[in-house]
Amino acid sequence: MANLSLKHIYKVYPNGTKAVNDFNMEIEDKEFIVFVGPSGCGKSTTLRMIAGLEDISAGELMIGENVVNDMEPKDRDIAMVFQNYALYPHMTVFENIAFGLRLRKMPKDEINRRVTEAAEILGITEYLGKKPKEMSGGQRQRVSLGRAIVREPKVMLLDEPLSNLDAKLRTQMRSEIAKLHAKLKTTFIYVTHDQIEAMTMGTRIVVMKNGFVQQIDTPKNLYNYPGNKFVAGFIGTPQMNFFEGTLLKKGDKVEINFAYSDAKITVPYSMMYKAKPAYLDGKTTVYIGLRAEAVSVNPATVKASKSVIKVRVSHTEELGNQTLLYGDINMDGDGYTESSTRIIIDADGSLEYKPGDIIDAALDIEKVHLFDRETELSILPRLPEYNYLDCAVKDGTLSFLGTQIKLPAAINCPDGKYDLLIPTDAITLKGGDAEINIVSCENVNGKNLISFELGTRTMFAVVPAPVKCGKGKISIDLKKISLLSDGAAVVSEMPSVVRFEGSLMKEKVKEEVTGGSKTKMKKVIKFFLNIGGYKMLCPDAVADKLITAMGVKKAFTDKLIYECGVYDLQFAEEGVEAEAVRIADYGKEKFTVCKAGEDEFFVYGQHDGGNVKLLPDVEKLSIIQADKNIRMI
Ligand code: ADP
Repeated sequence: MANLSLKHIYKVYPNGTKAVNDFNMEIEDKEFIVFVGPSGCGKSTTLRMIAGLEDISAGELMIGENVVNDMEPKDRDIAMVFQNYALYPHMTVFENIAFGLRLRKMPKDEINRRVTEAAEILGITEYLGKKPKEMSGGQRQRVSLGRAIVREPKVMLLDEPLSNLDAKLRTQMRSEIAKLHAKLKTTFIYVTHDQIEAMTMGTRIVVMKNGFVQQIDTPKNLYNYPGNKFVAGFIGTPQMNFFEGTLLKKGDKVEINFAYSDAKITVPYSMMYKAKPAYLDGKTTVYIGLRAEAVSVNPATVKASKSVIKVRVSHTEELGNQTLLYGDINMDGDGYTESSTRIIIDADGSLEYKPGDIIDAALDIEKVHLFDRETELSILPRLPEYNYLDCAVKDGTLSFLGTQIKLPAAINCPDGKYDLLIPTDAITLKGGDAEINIVSCENVNGKNLISFELGTRTMFAVVPAPVKCGKGKISIDLKKISLLSDGAAVVSEMPSVVRFEGSLMKEKVKEEVTGGSKTKMKKVIKFFLNIGGYKMLCPDAVADKLITAMGVKKAFTDKLIYECGVYDLQFAEEGVEAEAVRIADYGKEKFTVCKAGEDEFFVYGQHDGGNVKLLPDVEKLSIIQADKNIRMI
């Protein structure tokens, strides 16, 4: 029983393959986590790093309270089950299960108790005296599970344990492993390339691609709220339909035009509040995603729907409980080849579909997914980063949705009409900038997302604790807002971090060492951080992490980038040299704009100007290996 914490975990193999990049996750005790993704995406490597079978290139791995990066596998209190169950053929099932315990010199009685109990849980008691060759594949995999269970590990790691089994047995073992998890009350981490296996077993799923985590979420949320096109396409069978198209805002409606086709539907603008206005210009191509079940050809549904498109029928696929109708929204398309116009529809099996027929299909607009064509990220994220509003500025006063706010001196904006971007984390539920009506509060991946009405609009905010619906007041942190005119920023969000270049250094220094009654001068190695030309003592723990992450040689030669928050720098007698240029007055908070080299940045507090020295809080630094772009701390 243990929780795990993976922070900025990277794996770079000696041949340079970056197998895992910046893996971050907190796993609660007793969770059933599944790593899923296509072959080569880095899931086994991650599992093997947790097991201790593979070195961690950078990052911090904790099991329970301990950092285990350098801990031997045998000391990590984990057990691993592999795809090839690797049983000893000459040993009985009992001996196979007991083998690891015997190696640990566990007393015989205890071994007997554990093996008997495990065999019972797995339903293989009657096979304990038999040899593996007398057993089926499924039974053998149970023996290998038994071998893991008897260790009573804190964490069970399973690497594609079912992929050698036939389809029927796989389904059966799937539910048995889920049952086992419920019984053992241990943290499980399970690797598979099979999304159905992932969806049916995991309490949370980590979807990976090319060494990068794509999304971590519950099966339901992955299905309903995929964060990008890859996750949308990977989860769910048949695969989600992806079309290309454009979105055009017309008053309180948005027209969705499908490319290479005459198909067009209209949705309320309220559905698109989370989307950047730039997507709604009628020119920017986006991916439109619709699952097979979000399209209906049922005549009654079509009749009642306002979002109907034409489909040219190609063929059907009978799956017994489901009829998949293939077609094309381009009347010249063939419906067979995957394309931007091919459509798969979960159809009514009692109806007849003739190839070549042109039929009406109703789209469930509530279930439309939209993705950016370049980044492939959802343009309607579940946890939006910004509220996009129309606003006006006149004589230093900002007006939007019937609300007026006096802009602070730091925001110098000519009179005019703008697009206003208010980050969802810039809104707090106290103060008196505006009165609102809170409509909902939901937990999205551990964050509290509220939606509220202000004037005629629904807006979003991320708040520290859950709140009740109803009337409330908000204030807006104006240093975080942006004002855009034709897509160009007239006022930008104040940067919240400062970056310095530098490196790690070591030096031999003389230090007084007291032993008994004697005090001697002794040479010791001390580590220093060179931060933007300023040398400061580096805590041993920080140096340790950097050396582990970069290797002993590179740690002292590679360029580093230090990042610290604007509140984590102090004007001091010693520190990074810079020039104080001006004051940015945001009302309650005042910042000094400083310049070091070409770079301008903000520092909390006021300074008269001239040369300054800035002392970073070393405990709060984030450190990146510059050329590899690996965040180590
Ligand atoms: P998955 O388990 O998702 O199929 P892996 O974690 O096994 O993927 O591999 C991730 C990537 O790392 C792949 O590109 C693979 O070729 C590479 N890789 C795995 N093991 C090694 C190794 N020992 N040396 C070099 N590259 C490796």
